[in-house]
Amino acid sequence: MLNFISIGNHIFSRVIRMENTIVLEERLARCERENDELKLKVEELSDFFENASMPLHWVDAKGIIIWANQAELDALGYEKEEYIGFPIKNFHADPEVIQDILYRLSNDETLYDYTARLKCKDGSVKHVLINSNVLRKDGKFVHTRCFTRDITDRQQEDQRKNDFLAMVSHELKTPLTVVASYIQILLKKKQKNTDDFGLNVLIRMEVQVKKMILMAHDFLNLARIQDGKLERNSIEFDIDQLIGEVVESSRLLTTIHTIEVSGCTGVVVYADQDKIGQVLTNLVGNAIKYSPQGGRIIVGCEKLGDKVRISVSDQGIGIRQSDQTRLFERFYRINSKSNQGASGFGIGLYLVSEILQQHNSKIEVKSVENQGSRFYFDLDGVSIAEGVHPVIKKS
Ligand code: ADP
Repeated sequence: MLNFISIGNHIFSRVIRMENTIVLEERLARCERENDELKLKVEELSDFFENASMPLHWVDAKGIIIWANQAELDALGYEKEEYIGFPIKNFHADPEVIQDILYRLSNDETLYDYTARLKCKDGSVKHVLINSNVLRKDGKFVHTRCFTRDITDRQQEDQRKNDFLAMVSHELKTPLTVVASYIQILLKKKQKNTDDFGLNVLIRMEVQVKKMILMAHDFLNLARIQDGKLERNSIEFDIDQLIGEVVESSRLLTTIHTIEVSGCTGVVVYADQDKIGQVLTNLVGNAIKYSPQGGRIIVGCEKLGDKVRISVSDQGIGIRQSDQTRLFERFYRINSKSNQGASGFGIGLYLVSEILQQHNSKIEVKSVENQGSRFYFDLDGVSIAEGVHPVIKKS
């Protein structure tokens, strides 16, 4: 009897062991399969990154390139051993740019389309957009993941367009200025005879030529901004005098508006006179253009502490709240029924905003649709009290 029991136990434990072995074998087979799949995934991923058409690299916490894909090596013309293991700063054309990039990344910023210039092996320089952030493990900096996109061709194309724009504007401005001075001479000769048809024609011609000169100025400044060459030559000058000149020449553009000046006497500002003249001309020009029913336009000055607030208000078509934030973008024009007749390129307010930015100032707008708009900005300035000329605080 006992023998039977022990044989039974023996068989039972063998069966159990066999079952365990089968389970183990199955598990092992599954592990192997999973391992193979994992290997395949790793191979696929590394193939994807190694052979991606977009240049990629990793940089460690010390700024050393620890990996780069073939597209990156091909784009810059280096062999692996000439690139990987070297400081990334060796390959940037602008030291302050790579310093800024590494600083931002180490502070966990994500860079989107950050412009930089990389040095190629053949001595040329590539313009790129960098998109990058940092991989951290347990809070420790592992490496940056950096994607670079070559925009050299686009940059060169933009440069060519810009040079063309600058050249055309300059070439247009020169003959137009000559024509404008001849018109001035003829006007002076004819001014006594107010009923003269010729005089009226000359006045109209002068207005049109001045408009063209202003357009050429706008395009020239646009090209300068794109090139980063818009200079600021600030001096102290009477803003009332400048406003007076702008208002006087703007009055020639309209017969249905009254253009008034308010509170600008005895105010001195520190700014680039020509550029602020252009800002005012653009704002008053828009006030006329976008109030087709006519009405009052007021150019005002107001003293605010160390600043002088200059404003241009109209009673025109106004601007929807939703459009007000985009007005100052390059080439932005509002597409609405009320301004369909108005011509323009959408660069006037962009230039205004860029010029004021250069003066550490900002253009602001308050507007109500169908009621009118008020554009305003602040400049460093003081008002002069009876011959005393206080010092302007310059920002
Ligand atoms: P442009 O007048 O050549 O279109 P701007 O950059 O000067 O370009 O102005 C951008 C847009 O802002 C204009 O198209 C117009 O719709 C709107 N705008 C500018 N000034 C005024 C204003 N005073 N009143 C109403 N809309 C304005």
